Amino acid sequence: MSEERVCRRCLLRESGREDMLADIHARITRLSPTERAPQALYDARLAVCCGCAHLIGGVCVKCGCYPEFRAAFLRQRCPMRLWDTQK
Ligand code: SF4
Repeated sequence: MSEERVCRRCLLRESGREDMLADIHARITRLSPTERAPQALYDARLAVCCGCAHLIGGVCVKCGCYPEFRAAFLRQRCPMRLWDTQK
């Protein structure tokens, strides 16, 4: 039996989940400009996630979301409020 390794503190883009990532990016492109976080904010949020112990295998285990999708919504928040310093 092979054991699949789970990448801790990795986003999908670092976890070899290109299929899921492509789907997420397609969904992000369909967001309206008012829904969507600016690129700099998106990147800053994901940088926080990359240093977070709750990110496991591209999933936030605190809320079950994919941060690469959640972070794209301007009005979404980190469940632990760790994005609150990002503007
Ligand atoms: S959304 Fe918040 S709790 Fe979840 S991985 Fe990112 S920083 Fe951590």
